Amino acid sequence: METLIIENPNESDIKEASRIIRSGGLVVFPTETVYGLGASALDPEAAKKIYAAKGRPSDNPLIIHLSRAEEAEKYCYTNEKFYKLAECFMPGPLTVILPKRDIIPMEVTGGLSTVAVRVPMNEIALELIKSSEVPIAAPSANISGRPSPTCPIHVINDLGGKVDAILCGGECEVGLESTIVRCEADGTVSQLRPGAITPEMLSAAMGGAEVIDLSTRKLDDDEKPIAPGMKYRHYAPKAKVTVLVGDREKIFKYMEELSSKEEIGFLTDFETAKKLGKNAFSYGKRDSAKEMAHNLFKNLREFDEHEEIKQVYADMPKLQGLGLAVYNRLIKAAGFDVREIK
Ligand code: AMP
Ligand code: MG
Repeated sequence: METLIIENPNESDIKEASRIIRSGGLVVFPTETVYGLGASALDPEAAKKIYAAKGRPSDNPLIIHLSRAEEAEKYCYTNEKFYKLAECFMPGPLTVILPKRDIIPMEVTGGLSTVAVRVPMNEIALELIKSSEVPIAAPSANISGRPSPTCPIHVINDLGGKVDAILCGGECEVGLESTIVRCEADGTVSQLRPGAITPEMLSAAMGGAEVIDLSTRKLDDDEKPIAPGMKYRHYAPKAKVTVLVGDREKIFKYMEELSSKEEIGFLTDFETAKKLGKNAFSYGKRDSAKEMAHNLFKNLREFDEHEEIKQVYADMPKLQGLGLAVYNRLIKAAGFDVREIK
């Protein structure tokens, strides 16, 4: 199919895109986290098109995007904790899972009786949702298994010719997907995926209430995931990725010894990358998890442009705050291949 690519969409472009959504088509739009591949969340046939375009397994549910938190009541059964979180983080990079109402088709939730809701902060996204007059179901706008797209070119490379329109709105500010939490009717709140809204921030918004972290464990092969996306291989460039942990000096030595090899690449902080030379990509200043989050997916995709690189060694961020979300994506890109350097 021919894909309409719209740079810096204006009001009438967004109106046109909303007509596509209402008529059951696919529109990619920017958000503050990553680009989303959107369709009407009330239309099971449109949801199926999302899965087909991405090559996504049909049991991996979609997030529905609303223009206001107050709308959530129409699509799911909300509770007190939801509104506390919504007050602080909606619009923003937070997704909340709640029991769904019948109006949301099972095709959107991968057969689950719950639905994930989010209110994005990006103006284009909000205008598109408002103007469509339906909630928009959208996973990240990448081919399944690839790094999530944070720039228009990533989307064009993955989905050009497979969607009706792409609204280009520059680089995504956060660069990692939303934090996902589950809010139970009994008041229990658990984190299923780390993101820019950290457990500390969530807990503070709920007057110090506990947030159970279910996101850091690797699942056993036969274990049923709570967030189905957790079981799939993710974010992977074509090269193999290994995450190095341990003493910084030793890691640097290890990398330096390998740096003359054509087939080896590095993902590390700015200063270290400069020292290592040509196959070393920097994802930001060492103490800035924000920069690392912003650049991680872009960097992972850059390795694909260097076919000679078969193995990437990645340095890890500091394991606190947003650094934990960066680490979560990095170890998935590595297929959990983490090597301790002694
Ligand atoms: P993506 O937008 O590509 O990051 O994918 C959305 C992710 O949200 C899925 O992979 C799931 O892990 C999670 N998710 C969406 N809906 C639900 C739900 N009802 N229950 C648990 N996890 C969900
Ligand atoms: Mg995704």
